[in-house]
Amino acid sequence: MTEGNDRQEKKILLDKKLEVAPTGSLGGSQIVNENGTNVSKSILMWCDVCGGKLEINDSVICKIDNKKACKDCVVYDDQKKVCIDCYKERHPLSKQEYKVLIMMARVVPKGEIHDITKISKSDIKKSVKAICSAGYMSKKFWTGEEVTDKGLEVIGCYRKIYRNDEDIAVLEGFGKVENGVR
Ligand SMILES: [Zn+2]
Ligand SMILES: [Zn+2]
Repeated sequence: MTEGNDRQEKKILLDKKLEVAPTGSLGGSQIVNENGTNVSKSILMWCDVCGGKLEINDSVICKIDNKKACKDCVVYDDQKKVCIDCYKERHPLSKQEYKVLIMMARVVPKGEIHDITKISKSDIKKSVKAICSAGYMSKKFWTGEEVTDKGLEVIGCYRKIYRNDEDIAVLEGFGKVENGVR
């Protein structure tokens, strides 16, 4: 092998390519042979849900729609890791209903929910009804509505969904911490 060939080979090995990982596939670095040329490929990844940069060790593929998601965009549903977009679709809850649900979980008296959230009293009533029929709260004869285990689970998942929302963050300071709701 001549010196010239040697140099040529080194040059080829340094050939680098950056690609964006398609939905459902993870990135990483690898050396591939393209038409006889060794190419070092680095595949960049972004979370398909929030658009944030994704590190290979932190990424999860959603079990429902194969989106790749960062830790912040993944929740457990039936012990399966799913992205928050799929979770929302499977467990629909409007933001207003979510606000009422967290107030109820924090044992804020119904009369004060309106003052804190500015949601109208009739909308609070509607939300309570919807939350009850979804099974996130149940009506107890003596104590009124109580948030169910399912409801607490939903709160945990929706907290990730609304993690950047200022109007949700301010509500976290009201009421008391109960049943692991923080
Ligand atoms: Zn994300
Ligand atoms: Zn998904």
